[in-house]
Parts: sequence; C-alpha cells; structure tokens
Amino acid sequence: MHELLSAASADAYAEALRGTVDRVASRFRTTTQPFSGASRDELQALVDVVDLDGPGQGTNAALREIDELFARHAVYFHDPGYAAHLNCPVAVPAVAAEAVIAAVNASVDTYDQSTVGTLMERRLVAWTAGRLGFVDGGGVFTSGGTQSNLQALLVARERALAHAPGAHPDDLVVLATASGHFSVRNAVRLLGLPADGVRLVPVDEDGRMRPDALAIALRHVERDGRLPMAVVATAGTTDRGCVDPLAAIADVCDAADVWLHVDAAYGCGLLVSPTRRHLLDGVERARSVTVDFHKAFFQPVSSSALVVRHAADLRHVAHHADYLNPEDSDEPNQVDVSLQTTRRFDALKLWATLRALGPDRIGEMVDATIDLTAAVHDLVERDTELHLLARTDLSTVLFRYQPDGVDDEQADALVAGVRRRLFDAGRALVARTVLDGRPCLKLTLLNPETSVADVRHVLELVRAAGAALLAEQRLAEVAR
Ligand SMILES: *Cc1c(COP(=O)(O)O)cnc(C)c1O
Repeated sequence: MHELLSAASADAYAEALRGTVDRVASRFRTTTQPFSGASRDELQALVDVVDLDGPGQGTNAALREIDELFARHAVYFHDPGYAAHLNCPVAVPAVAAEAVIAAVNASVDTYDQSTVGTLMERRLVAWTAGRLGFVDGGGVFTSGGTQSNLQALLVARERALAHAPGAHPDDLVVLATASGHFSVRNAVRLLGLPADGVRLVPVDEDGRMRPDALAIALRHVERDGRLPMAVVATAGTTDRGCVDPLAAIADVCDAADVWLHVDAAYGCGLLVSPTRRHLLDGVERARSVTVDFHKAFFQPVSSSALVVRHAADLRHVAHHADYLNPEDSDEPNQVDVSLQTTRRFDALKLWATLRALGPDRIGEMVDATIDLTAAVHDLVERDTELHLLARTDLSTVLFRYQPDGVDDEQADALVAGVRRRLFDAGRALVARTVLDGRPCLKLTLLNPETSVADVRHVLELVRAAGAALLAEQRLAEVAR
C-alpha cells in the first residue's frame, strides 16, 4: 500500500524519512573513525547474503538493513582521520536540500519539468560566472569535473573547426600539463582527436604550467601544421594543489587566439576566499571554466558546473527534439546547453548553502583548510622521520616516511604498505601517489573543523605503521 510518494503516502514518507534521518544522525554521533575497518571478505559476505529475489521486507526493514550494511561500513569524509581524496565534509543545509531534490524529483532538462528550478539553476550559474568575472557568461550544472571538462573541450573543438574551414579533428591538438587531470586526456579521446592529440607543456618545479614553454609549444604545433584546439590550465592540480599562472597563460592564449579552458575543479573554492582570491587572477580571461562544488563548496556529490565566458558558445551542444525542446520553444530549456537529458536539480544544494551560510562564511571555511595545510607542512618539515616533498597553494600534503638509516628504495617500498595498513584498521585514511617518479603518501585536507592535533594524530599512525612494516621487513631478512 502506498508504495509511491503521493498525498496518500505523505505520512508514511515523513515517518520513513524521520526514521532514516534519526539512524543517520546516530551514526554521525557515534562514529569515531572514518571506516569500520571491516575486511573486504567480510563486506563481500554481508552483500552476498542478501536475497534480492526474496519477498519485500517493507520500508522499515529495508532501511534498517541499509543502516547496518552501508552506513555502518561506509567511509566518512567528515571524520578528521579522513585525509585521502578530494572529498569534503558536507554542509547541513545542502544535505537537507538533497531530501527535497529526491522527493520533488524535478528534472532540469526542460522548463516544463522544472519551472522555478531552472530559473534557480540559471541564477546560480550567473552567480558563479559573476564570481569568475564573466560579464555575459553562461553554463550548466553537470555530474562532475569529468563531464564539465568533456563539455568544455567539445565546445572548444566545435569552435576550432568552425574557425578553420577544411580542418579535420586529426589536425587538432590540446595543450595541457602532466599535472592536469586525466579526464582531459579521456575527453580528447572521446572527442575523436588523434592519439597524439594532447601535448604536454613543460612545468616548473611545483608542476605549474610554464607560460614561456606554452608559447614555444604553440609555435611547434603551428610548425607541425596542426591546429591548437585548446589550452587546459589547472587551478588546483589534483596532487599538489597548485594553481597555474592564469594571467600569463591567458596572455599567451590571447596572442595565439587559442581557447583557454581552466580546470578549477579543486581550486574553485578560492572564488569565495577572503584572502586568496588573487590566485585565480586571470581566470576571467578563460573561455571556459570547470568548477566542482562537491570538492570545494562542501556540497554532496554530485555538484559541478561548466561555466563559459560567452553564453552563446554553448549553442554547440544544442539539439532540438520535437517532443522536448523544439526549435520554436521560447522557454529556457537547460537541455539546450547540457550533455545530459534527464538531470538532477543538484543546484538546489548550493542554493541552500549560499542562503544559509553566505559566500563569505564558505570562503572562511575554504581558507581554514588552506591555513591548516600550511601548519601541517611546517609540522612535517620539522619531523625527523617524515619528509615533506612539495608545497601547495591549496590543501594537499605530499610526504614520505623515511627515518634515518632507511634508503630511498626502502622508503619507496613502504608507501603502499603504510596506506594499506591504515586503511585496514580504518582509523586514518591517507592516499598514495607518485611524485617525480617516486611513490609518496598524500593527505588532502578539506575539513575546516580538523585541527593540527587531529592531523598530528594521523601522522603518528603513519609513523607507527611505517615502523611496524620496517620491523617486519627486517625480521624477514634475518629469517632468510
Ligand atoms: C577531481 C578533478 C576532476 C574530476 O572531477 P570529478 O568531479 O571527479 O569528475 C577534474 N579536474 C581536477 C583538477 C580534479 O581534481
């Protein structure tokens, strides 16, 4: 009875949500580490034992099962022990807005499926464009930076081909750096560019694109009879959190009349930072920008946008279906500028957050994560057993556990084991990556409520795991 949300089930809906919210709140109250530490075998058994073909258990039983199975063993990004990937803790108003998004279930592809929702999304796009310095900007919310980058490069491809009659996709080249995100490379493949469609521009010692090297690379593209389709600069590289020198890159792009795309998936929080907005100076000269609100604005996944300097540039993806958004429609249909058709009203979460907190407060929170990171860098730098490997503009810490007497090769061999040992215990989650050809550990600090003492504790766990692994290695050597 009343399985579907309607007037008849409104009371049952409210009860189901209240129960769910109470259980989730209880998880947040009692969770003391980012992950339960259950083994993959245990989790696989818990998943396998569920009979998906069995009779329905009712809403309450199903939701209790989710609490026991999923919420209990999920990874919690808000826990100060979580420092692995680019996941932020989420703002309470945004989480509440998720409940509205799911229940009302608007689809912001056409105006006649979303009405005021479309207008609210467009306001938020205009707000973001304004923060970027675009006077007549346009854009659309997307599922993430991957999709935003793909659409940006699609628009850049159409523009490049339109400006060079007779040109073929095989002629096109995208210029990026090795520190840029892999989604750029994938997008280039999807867009039908040749295997050598991405050229890597040399970087400085922090992995930032070198504008002088970009100018040379563009001349080489021309010399080779190829067509530069876009330059992709990164405002917040995924590993180092470094912002490319956008204004100097824009100078080079303007001189060559090349599309500049700025991937600010990570660095977009700087748009509201009270002290560090200047790091994005020059972004107003980009033709397109990727922003991930689910990385830097404390939004639940998914919440991202592609924003373009000239709204008209998005016409390249327009397709008019007779049944949906006919050519003669005078309604604002966001599907005209989106790669998705049916699309969640993710923008409502950002709306709720901006209205509840105000942009200045969000900016202070972004700043707090960067300040915390600077303090952690100092901490690691002073540590005798840990070695800091790189500075950042944002909030990553790249380091290695290498006490005296441990050579580079041994230290490299410890990296994967340390990460794994911490993950298995669930008390602290850190990431690993490769920097200048050598493995290293990585923290990404996106929680403004995390203290230096919290991170010191994570580093103590790292040292303990490293020491235990070293002891095991030495025992194994003695036994041999
Ligand atoms: C995370 C990231 C992306 C991809 O964004 P998703 O939201 O994960 O799809 C793109 N670019 C950069 C620089 C990133 O850090």
